[in-house]
Amino acid sequence: MRVDENFLVGKKFVCSECGKEFVYGETEPCEHLKDKLPAELIRAGIIKVADNNLSIGEKIKLIRIASGLSLEQFARKIGVRRSTVYNWENAKRNIRESTKKVIKVYFGYILDKLGISLD
Ligand SMILES: [Zn+2]
Repeated sequence: MRVDENFLVGKKFVCSECGKEFVYGETEPCEHLKDKLPAELIRAGIIKVADNNLSIGEKIKLIRIASGLSLEQFARKIGVRRSTVYNWENAKRNIRESTKKVIKVYFGYILDKLGISLD
């Protein structure tokens, strides 16, 4: 899996519908951008979902980045620490089934867009 997050940090997106600005790592995307971001990042080659055997950590990272969220922002949404998300992404910590369920609730729309499953 290749996710070039460094390339994204500080990158500015402007919503063509409401004109709101979104800066990756600083602000959060508006509802319109939330919807368009995954496809845009895939098209730009920033995230690649073609690999079939993604680890759970790689999936978490894909979900997070396709949502336009930093570690901190993603962690806050699901009520865990930033370091927990970091450790999941880097296979240093296992993710509980109950937490997977929470992620599915908040980020189910992203899973659908990326065509991946947490199971
Ligand atoms: Zn918008």
